[in-house]
Amino acid sequence: MADIIIVGAGPAGLSAAIYARRAGMDTVCYEAMAYGGQIINTPEVENYPAIAHISGFDFAQSLYDQATAFGATVVFDRVTSIGGDAEHGFTVSLESNATATCKAVILAVGAANRHMGIPREDELIGKGISYCATCDGSFYKGRRVAVYGGGNTAVEDAIYLAAMASHVYLIHRRNEFRAEDALLKACRALPNLELITPYVITALEGSPKLTSMVLENRENGSTERLEADGLFVAIGQEPKTADFRDTVKLSGGYVEAGEDCRTDVRGIFAAGDGRTKKVRQLTTACADGAVAALAAIDFIRLG
Ligand code: NAP
Repeated sequence: MADIIIVGAGPAGLSAAIYARRAGMDTVCYEAMAYGGQIINTPEVENYPAIAHISGFDFAQSLYDQATAFGATVVFDRVTSIGGDAEHGFTVSLESNATATCKAVILAVGAANRHMGIPREDELIGKGISYCATCDGSFYKGRRVAVYGGGNTAVEDAIYLAAMASHVYLIHRRNEFRAEDALLKACRALPNLELITPYVITALEGSPKLTSMVLENRENGSTERLEADGLFVAIGQEPKTADFRDTVKLSGGYVEAGEDCRTDVRGIFAAGDGRTKKVRQLTTACADGAVAALAAIDFIRLG
């Protein structure tokens, strides 16, 4: 039986693994996709204290190397359910049909990109539609692309893409943006970046690849066609908690836990973007990992 099983190898999960291993805990981290979580999609991180500039990918790699150097085991398998309890230990079931047991669990499940939910979206993924500018931006060198969303991710993506695309349209459903002022200022200074507000995308056109989309003005209901070869969707995330809704209490889809990272189930802790919280940043995900690991260690040692 492991001491701690961590579900998810993003910044929260890997930070938890570092703290758990440094306390001598037998620690296994299960990851369904690739380690690093969503930060791997961020071209440039410049608000992590003491690191002036680093790519999201390099940050993730460094964190993974640090956790595994301390002896954390990262297994690529999806946790499908959690059974058991604090008294007898927990049993984690995996997509591979294997099971694993442990004394405490940290849910560091993170969140996934929200989809637009409009017709043909799934069909055009990889054929013009992308959710990751860093991964796919280079396919659109010298071409026209659109970015959808008004948060930090969308504005950062638009700035990143403007360096390679001939023209970038940043489409957002409101005239006000959620993104930080500094990012918006940088965005407005770019000659090949055009803000299109307040518009929503109502239809996707082109076959087999995206060639244009229909936009609807949210103030007067008028529609227009916008031609673009690529559409980068950056309209937020949704927590990846569906498999655990019968295990721990959720609130709005997020695992309900306070700043102490304790869920309603003794021995199960939650860390990172999948937890109920106000600020979802790289720094707060890592901080959560530390808090959850220390709480899990206390639970194992002191009950
Ligand atoms: P976000 O802040 O939740 O913004 C999502 C954007 O998409 C909002 O502008 C929202 O519009 C729009 N939107 C949501 N659902 C939509 C829909 N169905 N159709 C059309 N538009 C929709 O998401 P995010 O930009 O991915 O950022 C997530 C978190 O990570 C935030 O806390 C952000 O600050 C953080 N982050 C930080 C950095 C950084 O610090 N460098 C970089 C990236 C992300 P409304 O505004 O109208 O709701």
